[in-house]
Amino acid sequence: MPPPSILQVAINVPLSRRFDYLAPAGQAAVIGARVLVPFGRKDQVGLVTGLADSSEVPGTRLKAAKAVLDSTPLLSEEDLWLCQFCSDYYHHPLGEVIAAALPKLLRLGKPVYPEMDFLRATQAAETAIDGLGRAPKQAELLTALLDAGGEGLSAETLSELMPAWRRVARPLIEKGYARRERYRAEDRQLARDLEAISGPALNEHQLDAVAAVRQAHGFESFLINGVTGSGKTEVYLHLIADVLDEGRQVLVLVPEIGLTPQLVNRFRRRLGVEPVLLHSALNDSERLAGWRMARSGHAKLIVGTRSAVFVPLKRPGLIVVDEEHDGSLKQQEGFRYSARDLAIVRASRADVPVVLGSATPTLEMLKHCADGRYKRLDLPARAGGAEPPKLRLVDLSRSPGRDGLSDVLLSAIERHLNEGGQALMFLNRRGFAPTLICGACGQVAECRRCDARMTVHAREGMLRCHHCGAARPIDRECDDCGAQEMRPLGEGTQKLEDILTARFPGREIRRIDSDSVQRKGAIGEALEQATAGDADILVGTQMLSKGHHFPKLTLVGVINADQGLFGTDFRSSERLGQSIVQVAGRAGREERRGEVFIQTAFPDNPFWDQLLNGGYDRIASEAMLEREQAHWPPYARLALIRASAHRQTDALKFLETARGLAVQAAGDRLRVLGPVDAPMAKRAGRFRAQLLLQAHDRQALHRCLSDLRLKLEGHPEARKVRWSIDVDPVELL
Ligand code: ADP
Ligand code: ZN
Repeated sequence: MPPPSILQVAINVPLSRRFDYLAPAGQAAVIGARVLVPFGRKDQVGLVTGLADSSEVPGTRLKAAKAVLDSTPLLSEEDLWLCQFCSDYYHHPLGEVIAAALPKLLRLGKPVYPEMDFLRATQAAETAIDGLGRAPKQAELLTALLDAGGEGLSAETLSELMPAWRRVARPLIEKGYARRERYRAEDRQLARDLEAISGPALNEHQLDAVAAVRQAHGFESFLINGVTGSGKTEVYLHLIADVLDEGRQVLVLVPEIGLTPQLVNRFRRRLGVEPVLLHSALNDSERLAGWRMARSGHAKLIVGTRSAVFVPLKRPGLIVVDEEHDGSLKQQEGFRYSARDLAIVRASRADVPVVLGSATPTLEMLKHCADGRYKRLDLPARAGGAEPPKLRLVDLSRSPGRDGLSDVLLSAIERHLNEGGQALMFLNRRGFAPTLICGACGQVAECRRCDARMTVHAREGMLRCHHCGAARPIDRECDDCGAQEMRPLGEGTQKLEDILTARFPGREIRRIDSDSVQRKGAIGEALEQATAGDADILVGTQMLSKGHHFPKLTLVGVINADQGLFGTDFRSSERLGQSIVQVAGRAGREERRGEVFIQTAFPDNPFWDQLLNGGYDRIASEAMLEREQAHWPPYARLALIRASAHRQTDALKFLETARGLAVQAAGDRLRVLGPVDAPMAKRAGRFRAQLLLQAHDRQALHRCLSDLRLKLEGHPEARKVRWSIDVDPVELL
């Protein structure tokens, strides 16, 4: 029997249909291989997802693929299964899902083991270096090559090191000090075991948690609900070590690697293996190399951010999701997915345990545990005997202080510093001030492209929009009334830094936010400095609240918690609870007990009583009741259909159509809310609106969404808008 001649190909375009092609003459393609196909006026890289004997496309219109790019499957059956699952569950075109799952170079059709240009030093180089005194660039380049030794440095690495390296290298090559080579990329040998250092003996709760996971036969989901500093990471380390000993691989998902260098170092030291890291700061070939090593099994431990959930694994043994509550595990643009939820799906398919950890678990996970689907493992106390931090409210109406810092908090800082402690001031607003206001008429400076205020960045003399990136110089004169009285109002981290510097002369103050750590490597240095205790006062955004262990830190000040008290999203109180408990958890992690001061203008808000007297558990259980009554997740399923357009009416009209189709498809098994303007109705010059679908029955929701996607894709009204489906949205923005 001749081999099936039709290739079913997924292509990276926003269309959910499959594309059929004839196999290129004389070449067979296997499922999971990439092919180059003519598409529109261009050639596109696609992936073969199926083979067939016939096609619905008439033979005369079928085009042939131009080339088969992989002789063996690039993606295994398992990997393809996961992509197909995502396409079905998130109602997103398969071709775009596959593209998101692949490293960029593979998406572009590059080989898995590419040949790469290298430059290396020759033997003559050693003695030549002294003679290059008058050519400092050449000396610098040659030194780098000598330091690298062996095969030298790849063109890509050199470009990062010295953008003009090609010009600098030319005389070096002519003089015989350096040579160009081409090598085929190989998997680095990561197998070499480093010395593993042993950790503390586990306490009773940790031992129970480890034992519970060890008992799992195949797939089971666990939630380690452990207060900050309770030793969750120690539990992961023990579980990971077991799996590595069996010769199987472990995938660890973390919210942001840049923020957790301590975690990666701890893994390396304690497990004695070199982890393969997968995150956004890698260059394209580093990312491909990591992907390759995970797929070949050379990488035993893979630590990555959300997109790492797609990395192929040869012998998976365990998946860990650290800080499962963290919003960065959710992809918010393009193909929107939850890496946490997919980790569970993947573990189930691979039949291995999955361990999620958090001090502030999401209500979704708590509900799964309550329903008995996941096993909840509590670590109720801090490991090693540290006490939980003491939380206090500061009533801003009674102790207003100045510039956002109450007298109570200022004297607490003084006291803690005098006692040799370190203080952290948490303010989730970067820049100097959140508002520029006219003293004469009250007009505020707004972004011209968004429904948002401009943030004052006083150091650069600029106003910046934190939503679209627009920037313009700070104006002294009011657009509206012409008075020369525009001035900053409110506090951002930069202003706080200035105030603290003036108030505590001689103390080292360190601001850590995305403005202060833009340079590559800056965040690592800043965190190291903070850990070493070289900074007396840390000022920063949520960047400072995540997982860090600063041994000397004893005081945390929450400068402005009130933003979260009146949020419109049904998750507001859960989020506020998480962010305060997480940042509070940085205090007093060693001998001295931590103190946390929370400044609020609304001390009577019931939220505070819940938090101070019942902690996150109480916040979560109150929120759980509200959600049940109001039929919000985890008691219902949501999907959000977003649309944006240059004209508001286009976005709304499109969603009206979507609404009609949804009601038609699902009837009363679905509640359809909207369409309404998005909370920020205009952003980056586009008008945004949304339609919310709410259902009890997951099947009904999914049937409706499948139907909607099909009908909307070809709809004439869809041409004027950008639209997307967000299944299980976490931000209703
Ligand atoms: P979490 O991940 O819950 O924040 P970690 O695992 O980082 O907690 O532990 C917090 C601190 O307590 C770390 O310094 C860790 O070395 C220490 N620690 C963890 N478990 C124990 C234990 N059983 N005995 C003593 N110290 C421990
Ligand atoms: Zn803007």
